[in-house]
Amino acid sequence: MQQLSDPVSELSGVGPSRQKALAGLGINTVADLLTYYPFRYDDLQVKDVNEIADQEKVTLKGTVAAEPVLSRFGRKKSRLNFRLLIDHDVYLVTFFNQPYLQKQIITGQSIAVYGKWDAKRSSLTGMKIINPNNAESAFGSIYPASKAVRQTTIQKLIKQAYAAYGDLIEDIVPAPLEAKYRLLPRRQMIHDMHFPPSKEASAAARRSATYEEFLLFQMQMQALKRADASTNGIAIHYDNQRLKAFIKTLPFELTHAQKRVVNEICLDLKAPQHMNRLLQGDVGSGKTIVAAIVMYAAITAGYQAALMAPTEILAEQHADNLAKVFAKTDVNVALLTGSTKPAARKPLLGALANGEIDLLIGTHALIQDDVQYANLGLVITDEQHRFGVNQRAAFRQKGGQPDALAMTATPIPRTLAITAYGEMDVSEIDELPAGRQPIQTTWVRSNQANNALHFVQQQVAAGAQAYVVTPLIEESETLDVKNAEALSENLQAYFGPSVKVGLLHGRLKADEKEAVMTAFKAGEIQVLVSTTVIEVGVDVKNATIMMIYNADRFGLAQLHQLRGRVGRGTQASFCILVADPKNQQGIERMQIMTETTNGFVLAQRDLELRGAGDVLGIKQSGMPEFKVGDPVADLTVLQVAQQDAHAIVQTPDWQTRPEYRALAENLEAKLAAVGTLD
Ligand code: ADP
Ligand code: MG
Repeated sequence: MQQLSDPVSELSGVGPSRQKALAGLGINTVADLLTYYPFRYDDLQVKDVNEIADQEKVTLKGTVAAEPVLSRFGRKKSRLNFRLLIDHDVYLVTFFNQPYLQKQIITGQSIAVYGKWDAKRSSLTGMKIINPNNAESAFGSIYPASKAVRQTTIQKLIKQAYAAYGDLIEDIVPAPLEAKYRLLPRRQMIHDMHFPPSKEASAAARRSATYEEFLLFQMQMQALKRADASTNGIAIHYDNQRLKAFIKTLPFELTHAQKRVVNEICLDLKAPQHMNRLLQGDVGSGKTIVAAIVMYAAITAGYQAALMAPTEILAEQHADNLAKVFAKTDVNVALLTGSTKPAARKPLLGALANGEIDLLIGTHALIQDDVQYANLGLVITDEQHRFGVNQRAAFRQKGGQPDALAMTATPIPRTLAITAYGEMDVSEIDELPAGRQPIQTTWVRSNQANNALHFVQQQVAAGAQAYVVTPLIEESETLDVKNAEALSENLQAYFGPSVKVGLLHGRLKADEKEAVMTAFKAGEIQVLVSTTVIEVGVDVKNATIMMIYNADRFGLAQLHQLRGRVGRGTQASFCILVADPKNQQGIERMQIMTETTNGFVLAQRDLELRGAGDVLGIKQSGMPEFKVGDPVADLTVLQVAQQDAHAIVQTPDWQTRPEYRALAENLEAKLAAVGTLD
């Protein structure tokens, strides 16, 4: 019996090698093939010559007015010219390098040609001849193809698959929702995605397919969330009195936003369900202290807490800061990184395993197999977007189901976070501590860099400290380092002996890095030349200048992170971008940086300029890739689908209800394929 889950090898023309090539495109089953949608359509409908725009791709229909003329030049090149009579006017049609079309062009006969219109010359550069007998669709579907599988092969296979299996396609979207949003039945939707009879039909099909895709995704998220919530987490009964007393010892008053998120997290800690929460907050919004407070809460309940940072510099900084924050408490803080010496590592692991250490801070050294905790209750990952999904998962599997909090400044618009981190609850710090002065950002071209350096010199003479970030040179760390060394020497020469220029890059050993950072924090180094190793998290209040060379090589989010290294105290701060962008988009990106310091606004603009694909790559943010829907352009659909998915899983025994049967089956298959959550 035929099934949509049949392998593509069931289709004629698909042998082992083609099967493999199709698998390379993610097509394994007939169902995969049927949902392998075109990314665009060539509009093959015949157009009126008077209504087309220059360079538009159109189909024109007319009579061949005279014998075509073929001229050959070079070895393989040729040009085929003929005149096409439409109404009473004659137009020139040219085909390049398709000499074999000559015999299809017969004087006096009617013909339809698809091509690109040149309005100035009133001529058409032909792309193909449309066969009027084959007018199955007025649109030519164009699919993502590969070297191994050609466009025409995909087109033919999809036709074949639809003819043989189309009758088996059943609805997945529950009937009430299909009716509510006036969606197409699935069989028609798939038909019209591949073979739309009109523009309107293709738009309607796409709309239906988008909803279906988002609903399935949101169902998956709901399922993961429920699985998460039903695994027995721990109820952390923290000591509220001690927690309050601890907060009083902090050198500043928490912002409203900080208080709110601390409450949200504490509620989760107390609850017996497993916490899986994302804490979003722009750079400088004060996430670290929130982490400290909730870790302290867990510790008062007798649990251990762990904080994982993406770089050693950041882990060390956290260890320093938190040691101070907890100085007046009995919390025992330890640091574990890749450069912890074996001699120190062994006793540390012992103390961790017997519960002497309350709070362990570190890099991904924290999740190595031999790191055993006595009683881990809460794990926090800082700068979450820097960690792969697997690292997240490994951390969560340490010991019995610790509650998990992920912190990130990657400014994904909050609405989008529901997709990127759909299985998590989201808390947001949407306010900066009082007294901050906005960072003044200027953009200069490289021929003005000297003026900028002069400004830096004056500021440093007046007691300020500066970061100077060297350009990224492609993927070569060696070159980056060379470049940073050269720049630091030049700057030392430029500033003279009264200023000390330091150098920080990824090739330095951990203790060398630490020494440089310590000297910078102590003010012994005034100007710190660095590659992007300082990109995330670093917090030195007296540093008020951030100068970035070749700023256009960085993404907006990265520039925003770098800029976030200054403006952390109450003094005025400056960010100087040195860049010679090559195109309009680059210019706009520099201008946006000078116009706003709001990470969320920047993220939104970055999305608009570059599109979701570039900004929210899987690596960057855990953002899933969608086949049809665009999480930015179709955001409302995504949100509606989330509400619907939520409502469905709230329905008692929904899996056994007939209207949800297909959806439940589909979800089960998906979850089985994914395995477990990350
Ligand atoms: P981020 O959210 O970027 O990780 P940090 O936690 O590093 O930010 O905090 C930035 C700076 O703001 C730190 O120096 C921190 O001590 C300070 N800070 C945090 N919360 C407050 C507050 N409520 N009032 C004043 N300063 C604060
Ligand atoms: Mg931070």
